[in-house]
Formats: sequence, C-alpha cells, structure tokens
Amino acid sequence: MTNNNMIFVANWKMHGNFNDISKVKTVLNLIKNKKFKKIKVIYCPPFTLLQSFSNFFKNTKFCTGAQNCHYKNEYGPYTGNINAKLIKSTGAKYIILGHSENRNEGETDILINQKIKSALKEKLNIIFCIGETKAEKKKKITFQVLKKQLSRGLKNIKKTNKILIAYEPVWSIGSGIVPSKEELENNLKNIKKILRECNFKNTIKILYGGSVNPKNANEISKIDGIGGLLIGGASLNSKKFIDIIKKSSN
Ligand code: PEP
Repeated sequence: MTNNNMIFVANWKMHGNFNDISKVKTVLNLIKNKKFKKIKVIYCPPFTLLQSFSNFFKNTKFCTGAQNCHYKNEYGPYTGNINAKLIKSTGAKYIILGHSENRNEGETDILINQKIKSALKEKLNIIFCIGETKAEKKKKITFQVLKKQLSRGLKNIKKTNKILIAYEPVWSIGSGIVPSKEELENNLKNIKKILRECNFKNTIKILYGGSVNPKNANEISKIDGIGGLLIGGASLNSKKFIDIIKKSSN
C-alpha cells in the first residue's frame, strides 16, 4: 500500500532560473486536487531562487528548502557563503544537509553536525542525508557507515522533531540504479535500529533518495518505513515529478 502523506523533496542541485517558476506552477496545480491533500512538497532550488520560490509559495502547501549552508550562525566575513540565518530570511523552511555531493567535496560528519545545529537555531527543518558509497557497499560495511554518519551528524542534538533522514546510497544518486526491495528494507530497518541505539526518537521520518523516476516510484514508495522521496534529476522535469507524486501517493 502506498501512503498518502508522503513528503516529496525536489533537489534542483545547481540548476534552474527564474523562468522555471512555470514548471513549479504545473506541479502546484496538480496538488490542488484533494486526493493529494496530505502530501508535502518541498522545492530546494539554488540559493538564487529561494526568495522568489518562497514568495510564490505563500499561502500554498508547497515550501522551499536550501541545499546547504555555512556552519557559522552569526553574520561575518565569510565571502561567498550563506548561513542559516540568511536562508531563513528568504522564507525557506527546510535545508538539505550532508548531501553526498558535499561530503565528496570534503564535508565531514563533524562539520555537518555544526551545520545541523546552526540550522536548528534558525528553526529550519533538516533533511539530513546519509548513505554508503559503492566501495563501502562492496566491503559490506554499510551498517557501520550509516551508524557513523548518524551518530556523529546528530551528536548532542536532543530534539529531533525538526529532523528528517534521507537515506541516499551514493552509488544510486544520478546512476539510474536503485537498491533492491530487500536491500532497501534492510537498510531502513538498520537506520531505525541505529536511531534507537543512539536514543533518538523512532518517530523520525526516513526518505529515500537515488534515481527515483516515474517507473520505480510506486514500488519504492510501498516499501515499509518510507516516509517520502528525495528526487534530484527527475524533479527538474515537471511531468516526471508529477508522475512520481501520482504513483507514490495513492
Ligand atoms: C539527489 O540529488 O539527492 C538525488 C537523489 O539525485 P537523483 O534523483 O538524480 O539520483
């Protein structure tokens, strides 16, 4: 059974310009249908579009999120950077942190933890990405990797009501390859187990991200424990994004 209060996060990465608001309008029109009353759609465009998208979404069920932030919460001499305070001022409500594309650029678990704390101070909701690389999967150390990312990333964070976990196997992002049902179920179970072991509430929602498309969305969304989908490439195409929403939220 698919669930009708799924969360759909559109990660536009380094794509998009102001005219793309027309793509978003198409999706927004679909969501007006009461069949989709309970779903949540979060658009994470580049920083340059956050304010205009947030304004456009006023009084709608859609909201915006950023894709990263600087770890410093106060204003200061950090040329080229954007912190959680500035993100909050655009009207954004969410932020993606710990994305593998940033981990790949040298972002550590400790830095991610600082960014999460900084974003929580601004009352932003966190979409905290975790996931193993292909090499780690081959070495069969996925559990250990997820445990390290979760325990270090969420260190000293007491309140988890503003945190969503996005399980994104790195080898699946942008590759067209998705984990098998068994593999995904098993990793979701393990994430829940780790959260319990670290004394975090088991009410934290877990999203899946990695090559979600209209063909695989239904099967993935039916997997026990999936609270939503984080969609990269396919979210740039409004028709595909709408198809994914339709197929995952009946
Ligand atoms: C992502 O960017 O987090 C992602 C899941 O990308 P894609 O859907 O393109 O694999």
